Amino acid sequence: MPLEVDCKNAHIIIDSQAGFEAQALTRWQDRLKCLIREPRELLQYLQLPESMADPLPADFPLRVTREFASRMRKGDHRDPLLRQVLPIADERLEVSGYGIDPLGERQALAGQGLLHKYRSRILLVMTGACAIHCRYCFRRHFPYAEQKHLPQHWDSLLAHLASSPAVNEVILSGGDPLMLSNESIRQIIRDLRQTQVKTLRIHTRLPVVLPQRVDQGLLDALHSFDGRCVVVVHANHPREIDAETGNALRHLGTRATVLNQSVLLREINDSAEVLSGLSETLFGYGVLPYYLFQLDAVAGAAHFQVTDEVARSLMQQLSTLLPGYLVPRLAREIAGEPSKTLISF
Ligand SMILES: *Cc1c(COP(=O)(O)O)cnc(C)c1O
Ligand code: SF4
Repeated sequence: MPLEVDCKNAHIIIDSQAGFEAQALTRWQDRLKCLIREPRELLQYLQLPESMADPLPADFPLRVTREFASRMRKGDHRDPLLRQVLPIADERLEVSGYGIDPLGERQALAGQGLLHKYRSRILLVMTGACAIHCRYCFRRHFPYAEQKHLPQHWDSLLAHLASSPAVNEVILSGGDPLMLSNESIRQIIRDLRQTQVKTLRIHTRLPVVLPQRVDQGLLDALHSFDGRCVVVVHANHPREIDAETGNALRHLGTRATVLNQSVLLREINDSAEVLSGLSETLFGYGVLPYYLFQLDAVAGAAHFQVTDEVARSLMQQLSTLLPGYLVPRLAREIAGEPSKTLISF
């Protein structure tokens, strides 16, 4: 019988890694009911002054899993994980060049929630939902309500695939596509069987922020795909990866090629030490680095920007600290280009 979800005591349970009591809370769907949405609650938990938070931005409020919050350092107002999620007054600065659709996604929509920008792969915006709201997110202003790819649009996807023979990869994105049920993912995989698609890719932050999401049902669903599966997770700082997350990543690696992408963020991971630590920590669980993105010029995120000059110098240091396969590709997305644009150093 399902036990009642007890969110109030949830972080006590997480902190003590308690076995028995925690079982009531291990289903990922139950964990999602326990997201922290009140800056006051987060700051209290971290023993920080409540005055640190900005009044809630209604369009993109605070949202974070208790698992992610439990990895933040108590009493540290500059904690790199906290800075990724806490709304602060700097977001309201209007900075020229920062807009609501920096990547021209609204023009690139080839159908409902379907982005076909690059020759061989299409990206589906499956949902607007995420378990965490990252303050730098380039899709924070995306019109999800009108633009998500729903099951009823599936016929148009199949028609698009039939008329685009160069496409051999479908990318599930969002929001976070792993907010969908395993049954929905199985359904998608079943439908892709009738197409030319060879690679299914999933871009998700859930295995990092809510490792319980990597459950047997998901592993089985991925296993049911005949082609290759690639899961691109998203972590920016080595402290995001605790043992439980590492375990989830290792499990994912039994079914998919697992890669990580990060965003270069001021005062979060703009140091060679942090970035090399991230690559090494992830590799400990079988995950290789993919992209390190320069921030997209999205309104509200200008305070996270790192200059290209600093980014290049970080990459130079990284390449002396790490073997080549642990050095991510520094890149940015430029609207209208036929691929991500690599930044050489
Ligand atoms: C980033 C992106 C991709 C994937 O690009 P890769 O270089 O293959 O990782 C595909 N489609 C869209 C619309 C994208 O924004
Ligand atoms: S889409 Fe990804 S980066 Fe954006 S808020 Fe959701 S989890 Fe964070």
